[in-house]
Amino acid sequence: MKDNGLKQPVTDVKGIGEETAEALSDLNIRTVKDLLEYFPYRYEDYRLKDLSQVKHEEKVTVEGVVHSEPSLVYYGRKRSRLTIRLLVNQFLVQVVYFNQPYMKNKISINETLTVTGKWDAHRRTITASQTKIGEMKKNNEFEPVYHVKGSVTVKGVRRFIQLALNQYGESITETLPKEFLLNYKLLNRREAIRAIHFPLNSNDVKQARRRFVYEEFLYFQLKMQALRKFEREQSKGTIQKYDLEKLKLFLESLPFQLTNAQKRVVNEILADLKSPYRMNRLLQGDVGSGKTAVAAIALYASITAGFQGALMVPTEILAEQHAESLKSMLQPFDIECDLLTSSVKGKRRKEILEKVSNGKIHLLIGTHALIQDEVVFHKLGLVITDEQHRFGVEQRRILREKGENPDVLFMTATPIPRTLAITVFGEMDVSVIDEMPAGRKVIETYWAKHDMLDRVLGFMEKELIQGRQAYVICPLIEESDKLDVQNAIDVHASLTAYFGNRYHVGLMHGRLTSDEKDSVMKSFSSNDVQVLVSTTVVEVGVNVPNATMMVIYDAERFGLSQLHQLRGRVGRGSEQSYCILLADPKTEVGKERMKIMTETNDGFVLSEKDLELRGPGDFFGKKQSGLPEFKVADMVHDYRALETARNDAAELIRSEAFWNSPEYETLRGYLQESEVLKGEKLD
Ligand code: ADP
Ligand code: MG
Repeated sequence: MKDNGLKQPVTDVKGIGEETAEALSDLNIRTVKDLLEYFPYRYEDYRLKDLSQVKHEEKVTVEGVVHSEPSLVYYGRKRSRLTIRLLVNQFLVQVVYFNQPYMKNKISINETLTVTGKWDAHRRTITASQTKIGEMKKNNEFEPVYHVKGSVTVKGVRRFIQLALNQYGESITETLPKEFLLNYKLLNRREAIRAIHFPLNSNDVKQARRRFVYEEFLYFQLKMQALRKFEREQSKGTIQKYDLEKLKLFLESLPFQLTNAQKRVVNEILADLKSPYRMNRLLQGDVGSGKTAVAAIALYASITAGFQGALMVPTEILAEQHAESLKSMLQPFDIECDLLTSSVKGKRRKEILEKVSNGKIHLLIGTHALIQDEVVFHKLGLVITDEQHRFGVEQRRILREKGENPDVLFMTATPIPRTLAITVFGEMDVSVIDEMPAGRKVIETYWAKHDMLDRVLGFMEKELIQGRQAYVICPLIEESDKLDVQNAIDVHASLTAYFGNRYHVGLMHGRLTSDEKDSVMKSFSSNDVQVLVSTTVVEVGVNVPNATMMVIYDAERFGLSQLHQLRGRVGRGSEQSYCILLADPKTEVGKERMKIMTETNDGFVLSEKDLELRGPGDFFGKKQSGLPEFKVADMVHDYRALETARNDAAELIRSEAFWNSPEYETLRGYLQESEVLKGEKLD
């Protein structure tokens, strides 16, 4: 049989016809390989358990001897309850069958039964869902459960896989280098495929999983590492000879000393600018850790080397704020900065575009307007994007391709847990500012139930009386911008009524035009408005140091990292600041999330926790693309394997043997197939 990697259609399997193939294609199963690699997402666990270890209401399978005659009680005409006593390992438990009177005749005293059902630990009773007369058969302890659709059943999938295995099992070839199989004692691929679908025991499940987790991670990391290597080798980055003397003067002009973390990160970036490689770096730093200063230094360095810089941010408000602060820092050094957003129109726009293309503007700041075709740079050397996770991968690529291989720095205040960072950003270098400027006050965070709103508002008024200001963040309604806005309008109305003519309450949401937003923000900055009701649009960057209080409605609906971002809007001045989370979480996890917010101000701790509690999919939000999907592996729980695979992949990519030896042909073939070797972008 010709080995084509089992790419033949499933209809080649004896016993699978056109109709079945059609149904399977709805599950994206088309080839024999697809079928064999259609892994179960969980197992029914029919292992016998010691009842003292089983939790209340957990599903359990026990084997025991019938100790009493079944007793049957009818209530109503159709409803009945059959009870027996079963001796399980010296313990007497009750087994109950609802509405199955016929079981009475099947069960006799002193007989051995295997019963599966829900365990009531208080009543020591199992409500039976499945009963087998006789002992547990040892080779069916785990039954795989598959996602199915349409006419395909779980049993059907099992049968089709069995057929495919019978016919093609011998053709399954190994995809991992031998050394790894030996080093990590992994099952070979054929064995692992059998074990994942037809495990004989829990060890089979575990070992099969272990193998595929490693395989998935290794392949993924190989792609990342290869990409990184090619990026480095192929990117004819420019050597930017910045002017160190000028840079020193600029540093002296700043009203503060850089923190050690800022210094380290600046050095990493400067080394990239100087090098012939193209920088592709992620800069992580908590809210307020001073990323903007780092960005300014990097941009100025590039400009002193004769290049232009671009800073791209997600919202207009933020673009304006950045433009303002960068202008004030850089203009004394004869740097021409300008702002380009979609609301810059007409003659003004034309003028800016002109000056960007002839190099008169050294630094252009803006929203995604920066990446439109009409924007042509004279000599773009450095591109920085702030809050990069808000930009699509595509937008990042376009910007990168403007100009001649500009160095690229992505900044984010969402601390990305290490696990995710090495996965999602495996092809990037990562710098971290892990230190706050000295003298920052910790924001005191409290969790209150919604019915305590009156007290919370009383507290707020005490702050307002002292001349301070407050943010009120409205509930976030998933995927419904419209409802978000309505909510904000409602909250605004009720707070306006509450504060009467004592304080002015402003309203900010995503449906306002940018002029309107601008004027709301301005009146808040100038303290004409004391309370700002807002949707999450204030999340990023906005800086009003006199605001010392934030109340967040329905806080349980936000991710921890997002709450932390929001909270970062206060605590920017010298006064003590407060954040009140209004939340009535229904679940234990929800309560734990609120509690941890009150306990730590460390964005990294929160993001790790968030990842742990919500899983990687939710971490970035549903719309986030770019998160790889693994069939078996779980980035959170298998992070050790992920790190191992990453190190192995890096070592392979660096080695001569990987590129030449026949031993690695399969892996090379995979890179070829996934187009990394053609120099194409992974994303
Ligand atoms: P981020 O962008 O990381 O949230 P910013 O760059 O906006 O943080 O900095 C927050 C505030 O801290 C700004 O007012 C900035 O001037 C100030 N700042 C930055 N670096 C330092 C430092 N090393 N020492 C003191 N203050 C600093
Ligand atoms: Mg910032």
